[in-house]
Amino acid sequence: MLTVSSPAIVLHRADFGDFDLIVTLFTLEKGKITAIAKSAKKSIRRFSGVLEPFSFLEVVLRGGQKKGMPVLQEASLKHPFLKIREQIQKMAYAGYWAELVKEWSEEGEKQAALYELLLGTLEALDEDRMQEETLSLFFQIRFLTLAGLQPNLDACRICHIDLEKVTSAKVVFHVAKGGVVCEKCPAPEARVTYLSKGTLKQLQRLGKTDLRKASRARLSGPNIQEAQELLEAFIPYHLGKSLKSLRVLKQLRRQV
Ligand SMILES: [Zn+2]
Repeated sequence: MLTVSSPAIVLHRADFGDFDLIVTLFTLEKGKITAIAKSAKKSIRRFSGVLEPFSFLEVVLRGGQKKGMPVLQEASLKHPFLKIREQIQKMAYAGYWAELVKEWSEEGEKQAALYELLLGTLEALDEDRMQEETLSLFFQIRFLTLAGLQPNLDACRICHIDLEKVTSAKVVFHVAKGGVVCEKCPAPEARVTYLSKGTLKQLQRLGKTDLRKASRARLSGPNIQEAQELLEAFIPYHLGKSLKSLRVLKQLRRQV
């Protein structure tokens, strides 16, 4: 990487020594890039406070010397997503999505579709275009599809019967197998959640739609809860990582 100019979303920032910051950016041109922002802590003017979580920026990065970390040369604000940062609930959701992208993405690998998904979802969150819970379901199921990790929601993972033909109202979702299991098949003991066929259909629909159409989706309370439980168990399991931001989000939900 020599010099890269790109729009970018701030996924994460951390202190580095007394003066510098390490920022993880999700750029349109080069995917995830972890860069050093020199003197960003010491001098407010250096980056004029734009390196905040979820800020949408235009950045210039210079490749690090001898395999060193890339250096953030310039950063200007395209959109601060201020309303996200003003509400703890919105912060928690955005933090979860950002951590998902950060943990899943490979450094320097372009992911244009995922970039557009994250940007669009943050915009919708900032502008209150959709209920937060449903927006997060949309983000997660689309993320899984783009990552090639989508759960199998069409047929039983064991006997392969089409779920349309299953008569029971509830089915088992097997987290480790990555799909649903019908009522006739032996229910696995661990890592399962139960959900209604209505919830499954809603999730399938969200997985195949875009943000504009998703904003018209009306999910009931139980639908949301079941889908949430499924995705928030499935994603960390298949990423092979527990996500700090997800613990924060769940804690916050228990408080309200
Ligand atoms: Zn079956």
